[in-house]
Amino acid sequence: MKITANDPSRKSFVQISADSDFPIQNLPFGIFSTLKNPTKRIGVALGDFVIDLVELYNLEYIDELVFTIDDLQAPYLNTMMKHGKLEVRNLRNRIANLFDVSNPTLPAHQEHLERILVKKEQAQLHMPVQVGDYTDFYSSREHATNVGAMFRDPDNALLPNWLHLPVGYHGRASSIVLSGTPVKRPLGQQKPKDATEPVFGPSQMLDFELEMAFITFDGKPLGERISTAEAEDYIFGMCLFNDWSARDIQTWEYVPLGPFLAKNFASSISPWIVTLDALEPFRVEGPVQDPEPLPYLHFEGNRNIDLNLNVYIQPKDGEESQVSESNFKYMYWNMSQQLAHHTVNGCNIKAGDMMASGTISGPDKGSYGSMLEITWRGANPVQLADGTERKFIEDGDTVIMRGHCEKDGIRVGFGEVKGKLLSAD
Ligand code: MN
Repeated sequence: MKITANDPSRKSFVQISADSDFPIQNLPFGIFSTLKNPTKRIGVALGDFVIDLVELYNLEYIDELVFTIDDLQAPYLNTMMKHGKLEVRNLRNRIANLFDVSNPTLPAHQEHLERILVKKEQAQLHMPVQVGDYTDFYSSREHATNVGAMFRDPDNALLPNWLHLPVGYHGRASSIVLSGTPVKRPLGQQKPKDATEPVFGPSQMLDFELEMAFITFDGKPLGERISTAEAEDYIFGMCLFNDWSARDIQTWEYVPLGPFLAKNFASSISPWIVTLDALEPFRVEGPVQDPEPLPYLHFEGNRNIDLNLNVYIQPKDGEESQVSESNFKYMYWNMSQQLAHHTVNGCNIKAGDMMASGTISGPDKGSYGSMLEITWRGANPVQLADGTERKFIEDGDTVIMRGHCEKDGIRVGFGEVKGKLLSAD
Protein backbone atom coordinates (compact mmCIF):
# COMPACT_ATOMS: atom_id res chain seq x y z
CA MET A 1 0.00 0.00 0.00
CA LYS A 2 1.36 3.37 -1.03
CA ILE A 3 2.05 5.97 1.68
CA THR A 4 -0.08 8.65 0.04
CA ALA A 5 -0.04 10.78 3.20
CA ASN A 6 3.59 11.68 2.48
CA ASP A 7 2.89 13.42 -0.86
CA PRO A 8 5.12 16.54 -0.62
CA SER A 9 2.69 18.57 -2.75
CA ARG A 10 -0.09 18.17 -0.17
CA LYS A 11 -1.40 21.21 1.64
CA SER A 12 -4.05 21.34 4.31
CA PHE A 13 -6.95 23.76 4.61
CA VAL A 14 -5.81 24.08 8.23
CA GLN A 15 -3.30 26.96 8.46
CA ILE A 16 0.10 25.58 9.48
CA SER A 17 3.23 27.69 9.87
CA ALA A 18 6.32 26.72 7.85
CA ASP A 19 8.36 25.97 10.97
CA SER A 20 5.74 23.65 12.49
CA ASP A 21 6.87 20.10 13.29
CA PHE A 22 3.40 18.85 12.38
CA PRO A 23 2.52 19.54 8.73
CA ILE A 24 0.01 17.32 6.89
CA GLN A 25 2.94 15.07 5.83
CA ASN A 26 3.63 14.14 9.47
CA LEU A 27 0.36 13.23 11.27
CA PRO A 28 1.90 11.65 14.40
CA PHE A 29 -0.26 9.74 16.88
CA GLY A 30 -0.72 10.47 20.59
CA ILE A 31 -3.16 10.19 23.49
CA PHE A 32 -5.02 13.24 24.79
CA SER A 33 -7.98 14.45 26.82
CA THR A 34 -9.66 17.82 27.39
CA LEU A 35 -11.29 19.48 30.39
CA LYS A 36 -14.63 19.17 28.62
CA ASN A 37 -14.08 15.50 27.81
CA PRO A 38 -11.61 13.85 30.21
CA THR A 39 -11.78 10.46 28.46
CA LYS A 40 -8.38 9.53 27.10
CA ARG A 41 -8.46 9.01 23.35
CA ILE A 42 -6.28 8.98 20.26
CA GLY A 43 -5.32 12.26 18.67
CA VAL A 44 -3.24 13.16 15.64
CA ALA A 45 -1.20 16.38 15.63
CA LEU A 46 -1.79 18.80 12.75
CA GLY A 47 -0.16 22.23 13.07
CA ASP A 48 -1.48 23.83 16.27
CA PHE A 49 -4.39 21.38 16.50
CA VAL A 50 -5.09 17.87 17.66
CA ILE A 51 -7.43 15.84 15.44
CA ASP A 52 -9.85 13.91 17.67
CA LEU A 53 -10.10 10.44 16.12
CA VAL A 54 -13.11 9.52 18.26
CA GLU A 55 -15.07 12.46 16.83
CA LEU A 56 -13.82 11.59 13.35
CA TYR A 57 -15.17 8.07 13.91
CA ASN A 58 -18.48 9.13 15.46
CA LEU A 59 -19.11 11.53 12.58
CA GLU A 60 -18.57 8.58 10.18
CA TYR A 61 -15.43 9.79 8.42
CA ILE A 62 -13.30 6.75 9.27
CA ASP A 63 -15.91 4.22 10.38
CA GLU A 64 -15.47 1.88 7.41
CA LEU A 65 -11.82 1.27 8.33
CA VAL A 66 -10.93 -1.70 10.52
CA PHE A 67 -10.70 0.37 13.73
CA THR A 68 -13.49 0.21 16.30
CA ILE A 69 -14.49 2.88 18.80
CA ASP A 70 -12.68 0.85 21.48
CA ASP A 71 -9.45 1.05 19.49
CA LEU A 72 -9.70 4.85 19.31
CA GLN A 73 -11.29 5.74 22.65
CA ALA A 74 -8.43 4.09 24.51
CA PRO A 75 -5.90 5.20 27.13
CA TYR A 76 -2.98 4.02 24.98
CA LEU A 77 -2.18 3.51 21.30
CA ASN A 78 -1.55 -0.21 21.89
CA THR A 79 -5.06 -1.37 20.91
CA MET A 80 -4.92 0.55 17.63
CA MET A 81 -1.44 -0.84 16.98
CA LYS A 82 -2.76 -4.41 17.29
CA HIS A 83 -4.09 -3.97 13.73
CA GLY A 84 -0.56 -3.70 12.37
CA LYS A 85 1.38 -1.61 9.91
CA LEU A 86 -0.88 -1.63 6.84
CA GLU A 87 -4.07 -0.72 8.70
CA VAL A 88 -2.34 2.14 10.51
CA ARG A 89 -0.94 3.30 7.16
CA ASN A 90 -4.46 3.18 5.75
CA LEU A 91 -5.75 5.31 8.63
CA ARG A 92 -2.98 7.87 8.25
CA ASN A 93 -3.56 8.05 4.48
CA ARG A 94 -7.27 8.62 5.13
CA ILE A 95 -6.60 11.44 7.61
CA ALA A 96 -4.25 13.13 5.13
CA ASN A 97 -6.94 12.90 2.46
CA LEU A 98 -9.63 14.32 4.77
CA PHE A 99 -7.52 17.33 5.71
CA ASP A 100 -6.16 17.99 2.21
CA VAL A 101 -7.06 21.40 0.81
CA SER A 102 -8.41 19.74 -2.35
CA ASN A 103 -11.02 17.76 -0.39
CA PRO A 104 -14.13 19.89 0.27
CA THR A 105 -15.83 17.34 2.58
CA LEU A 106 -14.78 18.59 6.01
CA PRO A 107 -14.74 22.33 5.21
CA ALA A 108 -18.36 21.89 4.06
CA HIS A 109 -19.22 20.82 7.62
CA GLN A 110 -17.81 23.52 9.89
CA GLU A 111 -19.91 22.17 12.78
CA HIS A 112 -18.06 18.86 12.41
CA LEU A 113 -14.66 20.54 12.22
CA GLU A 114 -15.40 22.35 15.47
CA ARG A 115 -15.83 18.98 17.14
CA ILE A 116 -12.90 17.27 15.41
CA LEU A 117 -10.19 19.93 15.76
CA VAL A 118 -9.01 20.64 19.31
CA LYS A 119 -6.66 23.58 19.91
CA LYS A 120 -3.39 22.24 21.26
CA GLU A 121 -3.62 24.52 24.34
CA GLN A 122 -6.83 22.72 25.27
CA ALA A 123 -5.40 19.23 24.85
CA GLN A 124 -3.81 17.50 27.79
CA LEU A 125 -1.31 14.98 26.42
CA HIS A 126 -0.73 11.61 28.09
CA MET A 127 1.67 8.67 27.80
CA PRO A 128 1.06 7.52 24.22
CA VAL A 129 1.87 3.85 24.69
CA GLN A 130 1.72 1.36 27.50
CA VAL A 131 5.32 0.24 27.33
CA GLY A 132 5.50 -3.52 27.78
CA ASP A 133 9.18 -4.16 27.53
CA TYR A 134 11.95 -1.64 27.14
CA THR A 135 15.35 -2.32 25.60
CA ASP A 136 18.22 0.15 25.40
CA PHE A 137 20.86 -0.31 22.74
CA TYR A 138 24.35 1.18 22.61
CA SER A 139 24.60 1.72 18.88
CA SER A 140 26.54 4.96 18.35
CA ARG A 141 30.16 4.15 17.63
CA GLU A 142 31.29 7.62 18.70
CA HIS A 143 29.46 7.34 22.04
CA ALA A 144 30.75 3.82 22.75
CA THR A 145 34.27 4.95 21.85
CA ASN A 146 34.10 8.02 24.09
CA VAL A 147 32.69 6.10 27.05
CA GLY A 148 35.15 3.23 26.55
CA ALA A 149 38.03 5.69 26.47
CA MET A 150 36.90 7.37 29.70
CA PHE A 151 35.82 4.33 31.69
CA ARG A 152 38.42 1.84 30.49
CA ASP A 153 41.23 2.32 27.98
CA PRO A 154 41.57 4.90 25.18
CA ASP A 155 43.61 2.40 23.12
CA ASN A 156 40.93 -0.29 23.34
CA ALA A 157 37.84 1.85 23.71
CA LEU A 158 35.51 -0.53 21.84
CA LEU A 159 35.14 -3.98 23.37
CA PRO A 160 35.75 -6.89 20.94
CA ASN A 161 32.04 -7.63 20.36
CA TRP A 162 30.98 -4.05 19.58
CA LEU A 163 31.62 -4.06 15.81
CA HIS A 164 29.93 -7.48 15.44
CA LEU A 165 26.57 -6.98 17.17
CA PRO A 166 24.27 -4.20 18.41
CA VAL A 167 24.99 -4.32 22.15
CA GLY A 168 21.91 -3.76 24.31
CA TYR A 169 20.35 -4.46 27.70
CA HIS A 170 16.84 -4.93 29.02
CA GLY A 171 15.75 -1.78 30.83
CA ARG A 172 12.73 -0.99 32.97
CA ALA A 173 9.39 0.04 31.42
CA SER A 174 7.70 1.22 34.63
CA SER A 175 9.79 4.38 34.97
CA ILE A 176 9.39 5.68 31.41
CA VAL A 177 7.57 8.99 31.83
CA LEU A 178 5.95 11.58 29.59
CA SER A 179 7.69 14.83 28.71
CA GLY A 180 7.01 17.44 31.39
CA THR A 181 7.14 14.97 34.27
CA PRO A 182 9.74 16.16 36.82
CA VAL A 183 12.56 13.74 37.62
CA LYS A 184 14.00 13.36 41.10
CA ARG A 185 17.76 13.09 41.55
CA PRO A 186 18.39 9.49 42.58
CA LEU A 187 20.16 8.28 45.70
CA GLY A 188 22.57 5.41 45.43
CA GLN A 189 25.93 3.85 46.06
CA GLN A 190 28.97 5.51 44.58
CA LYS A 191 32.66 4.96 45.03
CA PRO A 192 34.45 8.32 44.74
CA LYS A 193 37.74 8.21 42.85
CA ASP A 194 40.19 7.91 45.73
CA ALA A 195 37.86 6.36 48.32
CA THR A 196 38.50 2.83 49.52
CA GLU A 197 34.85 2.16 50.45
CA PRO A 198 31.57 3.08 48.71
CA VAL A 199 29.39 5.91 50.02
CA PHE A 200 25.62 6.42 49.83
CA GLY A 201 23.89 9.65 48.79
CA PRO A 202 22.43 11.71 45.95
CA SER A 203 24.14 11.18 42.59
CA GLN A 204 26.73 13.90 41.99
CA MET A 205 27.02 13.18 38.27
CA LEU A 206 23.46 13.34 36.94
CA ASP A 207 23.36 13.25 33.16
CA PHE A 208 21.02 13.07 30.17
CA GLU A 209 21.37 10.75 27.21
CA LEU A 210 20.14 12.00 23.82
CA GLU A 211 18.39 9.03 22.23
CA MET A 212 15.59 8.12 19.86
CA ALA A 213 13.26 5.21 20.60
CA PHE A 214 11.20 3.07 18.25
CA ILE A 215 7.92 1.43 19.20
CA THR A 216 7.00 -1.97 17.82
CA PHE A 217 3.83 -3.62 16.57
CA ASP A 218 3.07 -7.16 17.68
CA GLY A 219 5.87 -9.42 16.43
CA LYS A 220 5.97 -13.11 15.71
CA PRO A 221 5.30 -15.94 18.19
CA LEU A 222 7.98 -16.82 20.72
CA GLY A 223 10.71 -18.87 19.06
CA GLU A 224 10.52 -17.17 15.66
CA ARG A 225 12.82 -14.44 14.42
CA ILE A 226 12.33 -11.23 12.45
CA SER A 227 14.82 -10.64 9.63
CA THR A 228 16.31 -7.28 8.69
CA ALA A 229 14.13 -7.43 5.54
CA GLU A 230 10.98 -7.81 7.68
CA ALA A 231 11.99 -5.54 10.56
CA GLU A 232 10.36 -2.31 9.36
CA ASP A 233 6.97 -4.06 9.04
CA TYR A 234 7.09 -4.40 12.82
CA ILE A 235 8.07 -0.81 13.64
CA PHE A 236 5.21 1.62 14.31
CA GLY A 237 7.08 4.84 14.89
CA MET A 238 9.56 6.83 16.91
CA CYS A 239 9.82 9.40 19.70
CA LEU A 240 12.52 11.45 21.40
CA PHE A 241 14.00 9.68 24.39
CA ASN A 242 16.02 11.13 27.29
CA ASP A 243 17.63 8.25 29.15
CA TRP A 244 18.52 10.02 32.41
CA SER A 245 21.71 8.51 33.83
CA ALA A 246 23.60 8.73 37.12
CA ARG A 247 27.24 8.37 36.05
CA ASP A 248 28.74 7.86 39.50
CA ILE A 249 26.24 5.13 40.39
CA GLN A 250 26.80 3.59 36.94
CA THR A 251 30.60 3.50 37.26
CA TRP A 252 30.40 1.55 40.52
CA GLU A 253 27.51 -0.81 39.78
CA TYR A 254 27.80 -1.78 36.12
CA VAL A 255 30.36 -4.59 36.45
CA PRO A 256 29.73 -7.34 35.30
CA LEU A 257 26.02 -7.24 34.31
CA GLY A 258 25.67 -3.72 32.95
CA PRO A 259 23.38 -0.79 33.81
CA PHE A 260 20.92 -1.09 36.69
CA LEU A 261 19.94 1.64 39.19
CA ALA A 262 21.95 4.31 37.38
CA LYS A 263 19.45 4.11 34.52
CA ASN A 264 16.10 2.84 35.74
CA PHE A 265 14.96 5.81 37.90
CA ALA A 266 13.53 7.66 34.86
CA SER A 267 13.54 7.95 31.08
CA SER A 268 11.47 10.70 29.44
CA ILE A 269 9.70 10.47 26.06
CA SER A 270 8.08 12.99 23.73
CA PRO A 271 4.28 12.68 23.46
CA TRP A 272 3.81 12.28 19.69
CA ILE A 273 4.78 9.05 17.95
CA VAL A 274 5.98 9.92 14.45
CA THR A 275 5.30 6.92 12.22
CA LEU A 276 8.15 5.23 10.41
CA ASP A 277 6.04 5.84 7.30
CA ALA A 278 6.29 9.63 7.80
CA LEU A 279 10.07 9.34 8.09
CA GLU A 280 10.38 7.47 4.79
CA PRO A 281 11.48 10.53 2.71
CA PHE A 282 14.37 11.23 5.09
CA ARG A 283 16.22 7.92 4.75
CA VAL A 284 19.99 8.10 4.27
CA GLU A 285 22.86 5.68 4.13
CA GLY A 286 24.49 4.81 7.44
CA PRO A 287 28.19 4.58 8.30
CA VAL A 288 30.21 1.87 6.54
CA GLN A 289 30.21 -1.29 8.65
CA ASP A 290 33.67 -2.78 8.75
CA PRO A 291 34.20 -5.64 9.53
CA GLU A 292 31.22 -6.89 7.58
CA PRO A 293 28.59 -8.15 10.03
CA LEU A 294 27.36 -11.75 10.05
CA PRO A 295 24.75 -12.57 7.36
CA TYR A 296 21.68 -12.21 9.63
CA LEU A 297 22.66 -8.54 10.12
CA HIS A 298 22.98 -7.77 6.40
CA PHE A 299 20.36 -5.38 5.04
CA GLU A 300 19.38 -3.64 1.85
CA GLY A 301 18.64 0.00 1.15
CA ASN A 302 19.08 3.11 3.25
CA ARG A 303 18.09 2.36 6.83
CA ASN A 304 19.41 5.45 8.63
CA ILE A 305 17.38 8.64 9.01
CA ASP A 306 18.62 12.21 8.60
CA LEU A 307 17.09 13.60 11.79
CA ASN A 308 18.49 16.73 13.43
CA LEU A 309 18.66 16.60 17.20
CA ASN A 310 19.30 19.40 19.68
CA VAL A 311 19.73 19.43 23.45
CA TYR A 312 19.23 22.46 25.68
CA ILE A 313 19.69 23.13 29.38
CA GLN A 314 17.39 25.70 30.95
CA PRO A 315 18.42 26.69 34.48
CA LYS A 316 15.70 27.50 37.00
CA ASP A 317 14.09 30.81 35.88
CA GLY A 318 16.73 31.15 33.14
CA GLU A 319 16.87 30.91 29.39
CA GLU A 320 17.72 27.84 27.31
CA SER A 321 21.31 27.20 26.24
CA GLN A 322 22.06 24.69 23.50
CA VAL A 323 24.62 22.12 24.61
CA SER A 324 24.48 19.62 21.74
CA GLU A 325 23.57 19.40 18.09
CA SER A 326 23.59 15.83 16.80
CA ASN A 327 21.89 13.67 14.19
CA PHE A 328 20.29 10.23 14.23
CA LYS A 329 22.05 9.45 10.93
CA TYR A 330 25.30 8.85 12.83
CA MET A 331 24.01 5.56 14.29
CA TYR A 332 26.32 2.66 13.40
CA TRP A 333 23.69 -0.08 13.90
CA ASN A 334 20.29 0.72 12.38
CA MET A 335 16.84 -0.17 13.76
CA SER A 336 16.38 -3.12 11.38
CA GLN A 337 19.63 -4.64 12.59
CA GLN A 338 18.69 -3.98 16.22
CA LEU A 339 15.32 -5.70 15.83
CA ALA A 340 16.78 -8.62 13.84
CA HIS A 341 19.42 -9.09 16.51
CA HIS A 342 16.90 -8.77 19.34
CA THR A 343 14.74 -11.58 17.89
CA VAL A 344 17.43 -13.80 16.34
CA ASN A 345 17.30 -16.10 19.38
CA GLY A 346 13.50 -16.37 19.17
CA CYS A 347 12.75 -13.57 21.68
CA ASN A 348 9.25 -12.25 20.91
CA ILE A 349 8.18 -8.60 20.77
CA LYS A 350 4.77 -7.08 21.44
CA ALA A 351 2.79 -4.01 20.43
CA GLY A 352 4.07 -1.15 22.58
CA ASP A 353 7.57 -2.44 23.22
CA MET A 354 10.09 0.37 23.20
CA MET A 355 13.63 0.09 21.89
CA ALA A 356 15.95 3.03 22.47
CA SER A 357 18.96 3.72 20.27
CA GLY A 358 21.55 4.41 22.90
CA THR A 359 23.15 7.82 23.23
CA ILE A 360 23.51 9.48 19.84
CA SER A 361 26.91 11.12 19.51
CA GLY A 362 28.39 12.49 16.33
CA PRO A 363 32.03 12.92 15.37
CA ASP A 364 32.66 16.40 16.86
CA LYS A 365 32.54 17.66 20.40
CA GLY A 366 29.46 19.77 19.62
CA SER A 367 27.55 16.67 18.58
CA TYR A 368 28.06 14.57 21.70
CA GLY A 369 24.83 13.27 23.25
CA SER A 370 25.63 13.36 26.97
CA MET A 371 27.26 15.71 29.48
CA LEU A 372 29.71 12.89 30.29
CA GLU A 373 31.15 13.32 26.79
CA ILE A 374 30.51 17.06 26.30
CA THR A 375 32.44 17.96 29.47
CA TRP A 376 34.67 14.87 29.29
CA ARG A 377 33.57 13.65 32.74
CA GLY A 378 33.55 17.18 34.12
CA ALA A 379 37.05 18.20 32.97
CA ASN A 380 35.74 20.83 30.50
CA PRO A 381 32.57 22.43 31.89
CA VAL A 382 30.16 24.11 29.47
CA GLN A 383 29.14 27.73 29.89
CA LEU A 384 25.43 28.56 29.83
CA ALA A 385 23.85 31.81 28.63
CA ASP A 386 23.39 33.03 32.22
CA GLY A 387 27.16 32.77 32.83
CA THR A 388 27.00 29.69 35.04
CA GLU A 389 28.88 26.51 34.23
CA ARG A 390 27.75 22.90 34.10
CA LYS A 391 29.72 19.69 34.45
CA PHE A 392 26.51 17.72 34.85
CA ILE A 393 22.83 18.57 35.42
CA GLU A 394 21.99 20.64 38.53
CA ASP A 395 18.84 20.68 40.62
CA GLY A 396 16.24 22.96 39.03
CA ASP A 397 17.68 22.54 35.52
CA THR A 398 15.29 21.54 32.77
CA VAL A 399 16.74 19.37 29.98
CA ILE A 400 14.99 19.84 26.62
CA MET A 401 15.52 17.78 23.46
CA ARG A 402 14.05 18.62 20.08
CA GLY A 403 14.26 16.78 16.78
CA HIS A 404 13.13 17.22 13.20
CA CYS A 405 13.78 16.04 9.65
CA GLU A 406 13.79 18.53 6.79
CA LYS A 407 14.05 17.99 3.05
CA ASP A 408 12.78 19.83 -0.03
CA GLY A 409 10.81 22.29 2.10
CA ILE A 410 9.01 19.59 4.11
CA ARG A 411 9.70 19.50 7.83
CA VAL A 412 8.62 16.48 9.85
CA GLY A 413 9.35 16.94 13.56
CA PHE A 414 8.93 15.33 16.93
CA GLY A 415 8.16 18.37 19.07
CA GLU A 416 10.14 18.07 22.28
CA VAL A 417 10.85 16.05 25.36
CA LYS A 418 11.57 18.05 28.49
CA GLY A 419 12.06 17.23 32.12
CA LYS A 420 13.05 19.24 35.19
CA LEU A 421 15.50 17.78 37.66
CA LEU A 422 14.32 18.01 41.27
CA SER A 423 16.60 17.66 44.27
CA ALA A 424 16.90 14.34 46.06
CA ASP A 425 14.96 14.05 49.31
MN1 MN B 1 20.89 4.86 27.33
